[in-house]
Amino acid sequence: MHILGIAFDISLQISWQPSRTTKSIGSCGKWQVARAANRASFEQALASVREESVNAANRLMAEPVQKWARHAFEPSLKADHVSNNMSECFNSWIREDRDKPILQLLENFRRKIMIRLSEKWAEADKLNDTITPYAKENLTMNEKEARKLQVLHGRGRWYETLDQAGVKILVNIEDGTCDCGMWQMTGLPCMHAIAVFMYNREYAHDHVHWYYSKEAWKMTYDGNINPIPDESRWPEFEPQNIPNIEPPMKKTKVGRPKKKRTRAPDEPRAPNATFSKRCSLCNKLGHNRATCPSKGNDQLQKEKQLQKEKQLLRMSQKHQHTGLLHMWDALVLQINNLQLQLGPTTMNAAQAGLP
Ligand SMILES: [Zn+2]
Ligand SMILES: [Zn+2]
Repeated sequence: MHILGIAFDISLQISWQPSRTTKSIGSCGKWQVARAANRASFEQALASVREESVNAANRLMAEPVQKWARHAFEPSLKADHVSNNMSECFNSWIREDRDKPILQLLENFRRKIMIRLSEKWAEADKLNDTITPYAKENLTMNEKEARKLQVLHGRGRWYETLDQAGVKILVNIEDGTCDCGMWQMTGLPCMHAIAVFMYNREYAHDHVHWYYSKEAWKMTYDGNINPIPDESRWPEFEPQNIPNIEPPMKKTKVGRPKKKRTRAPDEPRAPNATFSKRCSLCNKLGHNRATCPSKGNDQLQKEKQLQKEKQLLRMSQKHQHTGLLHMWDALVLQINNLQLQLGPTTMNAAQAGLP
């Protein structure tokens, strides 16, 4: 079993993502197309994208579907990843090392992977179950949904499942396939398959693909990486017939280099830790007036309005006052000037009719 080979196949499978070239398609329509696990839902989702934009649908379909649409993935791979979150995770994992010189970068990678392999191996070794926690969680989730399904069966391999809305999905228990597409694609029984197992009083656990077994999990992290001695202890190296490798051409891209990983379309946004916002409605921290929980609160709105009006009044009074003072000062100055020009006896402030 070549786990690495499979990982490579999976990485080829998701070599193209709808988000990369079809940003202009609004909403998450294109993701529904990519995520559809069977032909029928795929066609349906594609039709709704086409309704929104014929161009967008054409651009999606210009790429071979087996590269990005779940329903067309190779079922033997047992992988349903439609995003490249895996590489984004890796990117974020190596974030501090990315700007390091090459030797230091490789050394830091080696350390990280050395520790990761042993930690994950120990985690798998300690596991008190026959399947991985991921598979277990998935089963539990599907079991909940399976309880809502009705199973009908005559004889033979085909089982009919009906949900509460009356939607019919067929399960082939011998081939391990389901109309919904997920069982054969992931190797984890979908809710329909689980409903059939419940009906037959079988354990869904026993029908999980070997890839999710404790054994396979341990094998994934079985490899070992040894520490490398310090550079001063490296053996002498005489390069012979080895071409001189020049550093790669440096291409400078526009804008600040991006370090943050790209989030999945349905992933919540990262919490903003650099500043806290204060609401101008209720004056509390943590939200703004658009998302204020007391927005509908009429009393608060009225009080706020009243406060604003009072403040405006105070401000205008102050302005009037200072305005008058300025005028008075200017008049006195003018009178003084006149007095200087005409002489002190001809005119004074009282004669000018001023207070
Ligand atoms: Zn199913
Ligand atoms: Zn508020």
